[in-house]
Amino acid sequence: MTLEKPKKTHEERMARKKAVMDERIANAKEERGVLILLKGNGKGKSSSALGTMARCVGHEKAAAVVQFIKGRRETGEFKFFSSHPLIEWHVMGEGFTWETQSRERDEAAAAHAWEITERLLQDPNRDIVVLDEMAYMFKYRYLPLEPVIAALKARPRHQHVIITGRVMPEALEEIADTISDIKDQRHAFRLGVTSQAGIEY
Ligand code: ATP
Ligand code: MG
Repeated sequence: MTLEKPKKTHEERMARKKAVMDERIANAKEERGVLILLKGNGKGKSSSALGTMARCVGHEKAAAVVQFIKGRRETGEFKFFSSHPLIEWHVMGEGFTWETQSRERDEAAAAHAWEITERLLQDPNRDIVVLDEMAYMFKYRYLPLEPVIAALKARPRHQHVIITGRVMPEALEEIADTISDIKDQRHAFRLGVTSQAGIEY
């Protein structure tokens, strides 16, 4: 005969869960800037980065965005955020889109965007810096990785940085605090839905 263990009540399970969570919360005491990487093929990387930025700005923190790849049209987020007094918004050189054919021009645009980024990463008054689609710069070797890693490591202690892009270089992952890999389970595009204002841009 096997003795059946008495089932834990819902209250007991919840009390145990709460004790575990309380302990974790008590152990996580540090306040400092974090490096967040948002990667993967699913939809939601840039919008999550900007959502977090909005949270910061809601708390009166100063933010900056550098868009390393310029979309084809003015995005809703640009229209909404870029005139906010606490937000600095940079779009990489007008020339850089998926359609440019000139690698030289793209490299110059990448170098310029990096100049701006480097300054932001040294500015103690910028509480959060969003580097949208920066990961592509490494994938296509428009930017060397080493100076970026060095600048991220040397940034002001309280500054948060979010980098988006489908594929992240390993060296960036090594120094990141939070990494979310967004999976593409389904996308409306494949159901024949076009790119819509307010959802895609
Ligand atoms: P979003 O800006 O909506 O958060 P994202 O930053 O995760 O998306 P990107 O890889 O930057 O996605 O892609 C840019 C554009 O392609 C966006 O308009 C996005 O909505 C759309 N998109 C994202 N993932 C997919 C997908 N799996 N299939 C088709 N289109 C996608
Ligand atoms: Mg994106």
